[in-house]
Amino acid sequence: MGDHPTRIAVIGGGMGGLTAAIALTRIAGVDVTVFEQARKLGDVGAGVTVAPNGQRVLDRLGVLEPVKRAGAIPDGHGVYQDSLGNLVAEAAWEDSAQQYQNVGMYRPDLVNVLAQEVETDTIRLGHRLTAIHPLEHGVRVEFENGVQEEFDAVVGADGIHSVVRDSLMHLPEPVYSGFMAYRGVLDASLLPDDWRMISQVWMGEGKHFMCYPLQQRKLFNYVGFVPSDRPLKESWSAPGNVADLAAEFAGENWDPRLQHFISLIDKTFWWGLYDHEPLTNWSQGRVTLLGDSAHTMLPHAGQGVNQAMEDAITLAFFLKEAEGVDGIAEAFKRYTAVRMQRTAILQNASRRSGSQFDAQNEFEDIAKRDADLRAGRDFRRSVIFDFDAVKAAEKALTRFRRI
Ligand SMILES: Cc1cc2nc3c(=O)[nH]c(=O)nc-3n(C[C@H](O)[C@H](O)[C@H](O)COP(=O)(O)OP(=O)(O)OC[C@H]3O[C@@H](n4cnc5c(N)ncnc54)[C@H](O)[C@@H]3O)c2cc1C
Repeated sequence: MGDHPTRIAVIGGGMGGLTAAIALTRIAGVDVTVFEQARKLGDVGAGVTVAPNGQRVLDRLGVLEPVKRAGAIPDGHGVYQDSLGNLVAEAAWEDSAQQYQNVGMYRPDLVNVLAQEVETDTIRLGHRLTAIHPLEHGVRVEFENGVQEEFDAVVGADGIHSVVRDSLMHLPEPVYSGFMAYRGVLDASLLPDDWRMISQVWMGEGKHFMCYPLQQRKLFNYVGFVPSDRPLKESWSAPGNVADLAAEFAGENWDPRLQHFISLIDKTFWWGLYDHEPLTNWSQGRVTLLGDSAHTMLPHAGQGVNQAMEDAITLAFFLKEAEGVDGIAEAFKRYTAVRMQRTAILQNASRRSGSQFDAQNEFEDIAKRDADLRAGRDFRRSVIFDFDAVKAAEKALTRFRRI
């Protein structure tokens, strides 16, 4: 970049926005301010898996070790089981080099670890963005609390219902998928002594349940995916009904071990699941998007956060090469072109995994579904986990330099 530090506003202090703040500061040398609507960071949430491709990004940023210390590495590969708990396929859990294994993270822990890596005075809490105005040489952002400020550029990391996306780009809204998730965490000390410290999925007709360890195995994350015709808004904090969750997985068609697990749950949250067709552009001038705001995806590939992390480091590499503030718009355009291809693959993979997990009856030959799930393990490892966002960014930059 040029002689003067470029000033960038990152809207949203979630996992994507905070990774972006670290990457833009450490790699592009940019002066970042993060604006988060909540009054406290990382107050709410459940579990997410940080996969090998996301960990590679965190490693490059120098923050992988504290993240791993706050998380839980499972004992080995996960399992896909039928609703009665019979093994269907093993799930990928590490990259081909066996360098990185999936880590289960409690969202508040991940947000807090990332926030500690960002200068305290760069995060402004209690700032809900309401409007954004492109100017001749910058962008003005306006917040509900009356604050207005100008920056050289803006990165919208404000999640599925992004104000940045909707106020400026008029892109299509994410679409409710017809499914909701019951989501929460369980005190792991309540579990039977022989409970497996791995990721487990139970697949039944039209619904599935998954769980895996978090926080040095002190907590267990769970998600019950069930159909719902009520388009619930996505949320980290909408309380759900534990009895309704239990009823979804009751009866003799479900594994008694799973039912015991559910009987231990005392608190759950609702989460409407949204999907998005891949966008054809998500940058306009000096404004761009990152994470869920750019590429909402169903959660079935466990890649939303990981893709936000890949976005963050790619954006930093492209901004580092930008020629002064006047080069920002072009850098954003190039970043978008590169990331759109990758995230579209994950959006499609997530959709496909969801239908494999939930729709037994749609498969004429369930043995073929099972074979696809087994084959999916190689795809997951080679296409998803082995991906190196830094190498991909460097390769793309070389290509652009030749143009
Ligand atoms: C059931 C379920 C399971 C999942 N499991 C996984 C998994 O295992 N692995 C994985 O990688 N992903 C997973 N995901 C997806 C993952 O949670 C999202 O992809 C991820 O949270 C996206 O991060 P983000 O930073 O883009 O958005 P968010 O995490 O939504 O953060 C957005 C931030 O912006 C703030 N904000 C919003 N609007 C404004 C505004 N107007 N002004 C200021 N601030 C604002 C919000 O308060 C929030 O802090 C799962 C999702 C679901 C629903």
